[in-house]
Amino acid sequence: MAKLPLDVIIVGAGIGGLTLGLRLHQAGIPCRIYEAAPEIKPLGVGINLLPHASKELTELGLQDALAEVAITTTKIAYYNRFGQLIYNDPAGRHGGYDWPMFSIHRGDLQMVLLAAFIERAGAERVVTNHRCTGVEQEDDSATAHFEHTTTKQKLPPQRGSVVIACDGMHSVIRKQFFPDEGPPRYSGLNMWRGVTRWKPFLDGATFVRIGWHKPAKVLIYPIRDNIDDEGRQLINWVCDIEQETPIQQRDWNRQGKLEDFIGAIEDWRFPWLDVPAMCRAADQILEYPMVDQDPLPRWSHGRVTLLGDAAHPMQPRGANGGAQAILDGGALARCLAKTPDPAVALRAYEAERRPATTKVVLTNREQPPDAILHEVWKRTGDKPFRNIDDVISRDELAAMSEGYKQVAGYDRERLRAG
Ligand SMILES: Cc1cc2nc3c(=O)[nH]c(=O)nc-3n(C[C@H](O)[C@H](O)[C@H](O)COP(=O)(O)OP(=O)(O)OC[C@H]3O[C@@H](n4cnc5c(N)ncnc54)[C@H](O)[C@@H]3O)c2cc1C
Repeated sequence: MAKLPLDVIIVGAGIGGLTLGLRLHQAGIPCRIYEAAPEIKPLGVGINLLPHASKELTELGLQDALAEVAITTTKIAYYNRFGQLIYNDPAGRHGGYDWPMFSIHRGDLQMVLLAAFIERAGAERVVTNHRCTGVEQEDDSATAHFEHTTTKQKLPPQRGSVVIACDGMHSVIRKQFFPDEGPPRYSGLNMWRGVTRWKPFLDGATFVRIGWHKPAKVLIYPIRDNIDDEGRQLINWVCDIEQETPIQQRDWNRQGKLEDFIGAIEDWRFPWLDVPAMCRAADQILEYPMVDQDPLPRWSHGRVTLLGDAAHPMQPRGANGGAQAILDGGALARCLAKTPDPAVALRAYEAERRPATTKVVLTNREQPPDAILHEVWKRTGDKPFRNIDDVISRDELAAMSEGYKQVAGYDRERLRAG
């Protein structure tokens, strides 16, 4: 195994940075993580871990800890906006995988990763209130510069064998290498998200996709079980609507308003769930534009590279924002462990992961995981159907679902093989 004389410096303690930290620790490579937030709080709403991501986290010994806080999803169910079932796709172990699918609060996922990293590597290796302002490098090392997030005071620079930018979609390190990168590319969709305390629907572990963007598409899935004495769950929901103008800010914490989307789903009252009533009862509503960036021509610059959203911001669909960051972490740690020259290791990591994630970014634009819903919407003219088999065959539905799995890297055979 390669021995690095200095620690690996990780910028950002999000999903990608923490997974990388755990993977490096597992490989015996010391690292330190620097996070801009003054305190790491469980922010966000729901996120899904499909079998490719849960396999990685299982290899880190985290499956039980995740199962304790997440919902182990049984299936992904596709419905039209009249509440008619189009297709059930069994998920995770229920679909013959060796790994589960989890639906989880992003904050719970981040806390599981953080607790494991602190326990294994030590609390002193995660440093908060450090906002990275840029990087520089010498022949034998790379240095990250920081300011105190709260006071803006300059902090001592941190030198390491390499610096890995895991600082999310607004990455300052990405900006340093690509100062002229264009603005985010708007997909034509805005989304509203929220969580609601609600009674379980269907089997209490189904991820539901309903309708198409005109008038609206809604995803609904439980992310925490038994949150009170009445057996309610925390239900995550996302409503996507086609609109000409994007919501202005790409900020995960931006507050949204019920009246901006509820009209589009007002009559979505199904025997198994009253969708507008559930949205109305939300604890909090957030809004976000469905945007991404064109894939970058390179990630690695000598002893510095990009990982996760810093490397490949994608439209948040198909549960791949988090998953691809998790996969990046495993790949990078493996490359650093087996390649003596860190700059060569970073290039090898990029050679493995940049083409793979580029495909996901582009597929999410053209042929997203919910393309099934689009196809049925087109074929029925957005009308109820008498029998789904008259609209689309089982084989076609299965082929569309499998096609996305292959691009995103979680088809059963490939995962099992390697
Ligand atoms: C607050 C928040 C809420 C989110 N909510 C959701 C959600 O509900 N659903 C969903 O699908 N995805 C959500 N995401 C995005 C999702 O976590 C990512 O798309 C995905 O997990 C990829 O992970 P990442 O590590 O690349 O980025 P992130 O998980 O975004 O992590 C980036 C980390 O870097 C830190 N950081 C940023 N700039 C600097 C800097 N200059 N110096 C040091 N640290 C820095 C950030 O504070 C953050 O902790 C959210 C992200 C954030 C930050």
